[in-house]
Amino acid sequence: AGNAVPEGAEPLATAYAGHQFGQYNPQLGDGRALLLGELLDSDGRRFDIQLKGSGPTPWSRGGDGRSPLGPVLREYLVSEGMYALGVPTTRALAAVTTGERVMRDGIEPGAVLARVASSHIRVGTFQYFAVRGDREALETLLGHVIERHYPQARDAANPALAVLEGVIARQAGLIASWQHLGFIHGVMNTDNMLLCGETVDYGPCAFMEAFHPETVFSSIDHGGRYAYQNQPGIAHWNLVRFAETLLPLLHADQDEAIALAQEALGAFPRLFSEAHAAGLARKLGLKALRPDDDELVEGLFAALAEDGADFTLAFRHLSEFDGPDARAFEGLFQPGNALAAWLPRWRERLAADDDDPAARRARQRAANPVFIPRNHLVQATIEAAEGGDLAPFHRLAARVADPWTWDPADVDLARPARPEEQVRRTFCGT
Ligand code: AMP
Ligand code: MG
Repeated sequence: AGNAVPEGAEPLATAYAGHQFGQYNPQLGDGRALLLGELLDSDGRRFDIQLKGSGPTPWSRGGDGRSPLGPVLREYLVSEGMYALGVPTTRALAAVTTGERVMRDGIEPGAVLARVASSHIRVGTFQYFAVRGDREALETLLGHVIERHYPQARDAANPALAVLEGVIARQAGLIASWQHLGFIHGVMNTDNMLLCGETVDYGPCAFMEAFHPETVFSSIDHGGRYAYQNQPGIAHWNLVRFAETLLPLLHADQDEAIALAQEALGAFPRLFSEAHAAGLARKLGLKALRPDDDELVEGLFAALAEDGADFTLAFRHLSEFDGPDARAFEGLFQPGNALAAWLPRWRERLAADDDDPAARRARQRAANPVFIPRNHLVQATIEAAEGGDLAPFHRLAARVADPWTWDPADVDLARPARPEEQVRRTFCGT
């Protein structure tokens, strides 16, 4: 819980700035997080170990630096679920209650999350130094990021450009994987975007159930800035903010620097679309999407939206339709009218691929989970834990760690929320 510091560790809280909901804030920083240090794993990979909720730091700005138990358990479940789903993400090593009480809506039990990340360097970390015109710090930071995450950039003709291109490519892949799973981050501020390309900051995030592209969960996102359908565009916007910080390192001549940045940024829509199309092909059981598949794909999303179908189960249903679990699955998911009308078109397209059905099913299953950390389940486990019962938390944690395997015994963890169970708003964690 951060009461004793391991020998040899030099804990620190990092400074950063950031655009929050589009507004620049020059002074953020780890206000409730403490970096204990770095560890090398048995494969020589380097990780940050960070405590979240361990108390005030120089960047706490009036906050208490603490975290209630609820947000700690939420981050634990969702980040571990994302890891199991194959999404680059920070992870949860441990969660402990502190015995202290923290004041939020009322008095809540305090807790600390031990978070593991490839690093916690953010777009906002670069912004902090760029806005101060501190070129030396920017160079130091860039050198650190190269050593740690983009070693191939060391020998590039323009290392800053190589890092920019690397970050753009990783973010394009990351956001595509969020879209494939219906994951809505909820607070894609530039301080919540890591240069290592891992998902970070599981505050008001949630997985979309009924498919509506404008879905928002965050209680403070009144304009829908971070809605599901906006995530690729917002990532692109954040990357522009990152490129701005690198201008002095990209080229001595500012116009040249801007031209280089623009060219690199211009690749984002294509990189995202390619990653998105490749993932959609897997989700649909197709070998690859062809240009003339656009209509089929648009038809599917229109049908899902019209039916308000559960995003996760709709895709898994497609995987199972001709397999041994088809019956069991039909009990869990009934295609609505629009989806039922779309299905023959898709089957016709599948036939054109002339694929082995079992191979196709296996590929499709590996892209379409049954179990995701659904918001109402996370909420229920938090409420049980606050009452002292950790059994539901452990059950859900074990289940989301194995999201692909259908098990009828866990049907209650697979189905979407009933109307009375729905959690429509989540709050900025701690
Ligand atoms: P987030 O919205 O989670 O990305 O946090 C935005 C900023 O608020 C970060 O700089 C956090 O460190 C800070 N912050 C959030 N909660 C607290 C808290 N309880 N005490 C101090 N700082 C906080
Ligand atoms: Mg944050």
